[in-house]
Amino acid sequence: MTDIQIAQSVKEKHIREIAEILNIPEKDLEYYGSNKAKLPLDLIDEKAVAKGNLILVTAITPTPAGEGKTTTSIGLGDALNLRNKKTVIVLREPSLGPVFGIKGGAAGGGWSQVIPMVDINLHFTGDFHAIEKANNLLAALIDNNIQSNSRNLGIDPRTVIWKRCMDMNDRGLRNIVAALGGKAGGIPRETGFNITAASEIMAILCLSKNLEDLQEKCGNIYIGNTWVGKPVYARDLRAEGAMTVLLKDAIKPNLVQTLEGNPAIIHGGPFANIAQGTNSILGTKMGLSLGDYVVTEAGFGADLGAEKFLNIKCRQAGLSPKAVVLVATIRALKYHGGNPIDQLTQEDVEALKAGMPNLERHVKSLQSFGIPVVVSVNAFSSDTDNEKNALLEHCKKLGVPAALSYGWAEGGKGCVDLADLVVEAAASCKTTFTPTYSLDDSIRTKMEKICSTIYGAKNVILTNKAIAQMKRFEKMGYGDLPVCIAKTQKSLSDDEKKLGRPENFNINIREFEIATGAGFIVPIAGNILRMPGLPATPSAEYISIDKNETITGLF
Ligand code: ADP
Ligand code: MG
Repeated sequence: MTDIQIAQSVKEKHIREIAEILNIPEKDLEYYGSNKAKLPLDLIDEKAVAKGNLILVTAITPTPAGEGKTTTSIGLGDALNLRNKKTVIVLREPSLGPVFGIKGGAAGGGWSQVIPMVDINLHFTGDFHAIEKANNLLAALIDNNIQSNSRNLGIDPRTVIWKRCMDMNDRGLRNIVAALGGKAGGIPRETGFNITAASEIMAILCLSKNLEDLQEKCGNIYIGNTWVGKPVYARDLRAEGAMTVLLKDAIKPNLVQTLEGNPAIIHGGPFANIAQGTNSILGTKMGLSLGDYVVTEAGFGADLGAEKFLNIKCRQAGLSPKAVVLVATIRALKYHGGNPIDQLTQEDVEALKAGMPNLERHVKSLQSFGIPVVVSVNAFSSDTDNEKNALLEHCKKLGVPAALSYGWAEGGKGCVDLADLVVEAAASCKTTFTPTYSLDDSIRTKMEKICSTIYGAKNVILTNKAIAQMKRFEKMGYGDLPVCIAKTQKSLSDDEKKLGRPENFNINIREFEIATGAGFIVPIAGNILRMPGLPATPSAEYISIDKNETITGLF
């Protein structure tokens, strides 16, 4: 059965029943139909947050299809519930770009899914649309200010960095000329679109403490300079109030359920290569307020998602995971061991062993945070016993607990071994995590520490342009912000062709971007796009619907 057939074969509970599991009074539920509800922020209880067991799921360097972090998170959450640990799974909302592009949906897979999967993968509760509108309102206000004579801030149109956004892979909008059409059309200027998941508004929503904080952060967005070189912020355009009004519902976490009828919260969805790659602070805190365990996922490999989850999100929120689960697959390890992507289903223990250094590097990086690490081998039907044994044997040698997990094939019961290891690891964790860098470090030192401790790189090399930008940001007073490195997810290095565990490499920073609203600096390593394109054969071509509303091809 396909993912969508499995999802539609299960009778979903009314969302009221899911709320009951978490003792949420019905009056607090803001229904979006019978299977989704928004949760008010006053359900967040900081005392419960401090006591909760936060479990982060991350992965080795992934193949383009993904290695199963979402699937494992859901399977693990269901398994913890089977073990009578009151667990909430807290995930990001999928972006339509990957849904219609190459990756497909992101609501888990097989028997470990969150439902209603079609809604979750499409428009859901409209949060992404609200983010897009808030983003585009600011863009409209900028062009309007450049056009108008009254209250003209003197913005130099050539310096405006704020772009419009849309939740679609549309390379044709990456670079555009806007405001054409003569005097009434505005002052023409070069600009472009980002995908919504890469918008600073997405990052802001996911890092906000409450509505007031959200409004302040929106006001702090840097949009460009005046003709005399003075920075202009969204607050100078008096944009933040209306932007926050547009986001008043989007800030509330969304309650849904797993196929096994356990609670899940889906909220926010920044990408991990260009942004912080993890769901909202409010979603995570909501989960910890309502359950004893929260299982959450950070995007791509541990070098991107986990690093940013810890150094940016957890540091800002005062959160600290009790254990980190590193998802590995036998096929990805064979890929890192040199086998081509279309030959990963044949048994090849030698290739598997050759790919193991990638896993080793991620284990070592995660151990640098000082919290327990557990390896989860996401089992595929093509994996052989020889391969599974070789992998488990290797983890034993590394001294890291490891379990096979069968969440995709079996749901929660396929992940109980992993759940038991996670409970044990969480119980053994007595400290909070050690960040990779201090906020007092210079921007350069922060990058150097991430590159050496997490990527295993030798040096960080900056272009002259990057050096000038870095100096400027420091002068503007932003030297104490965390850094959110934009880098390919396909390699530990900045060269996507370097698989496995690259050695003796440098990280090249081409330029910087700054997100003064979200509160981080983005060093850009290589050629990372904020607006992806569709692949030659996008999955959109295979998606359709019949008169009974039966959808095929979504996954
Ligand atoms: P990630 O969150 O790491 O990107 P996902 O959990 O979304 O990965 O999984 C990526 C894709 O792989 C999904 O389509 C999912 O259904 C599929 N998948 C995950 N685990 C398995 C498995 N064990 N066997 C077969 N397919 C799987
Ligand atoms: Mg995922």
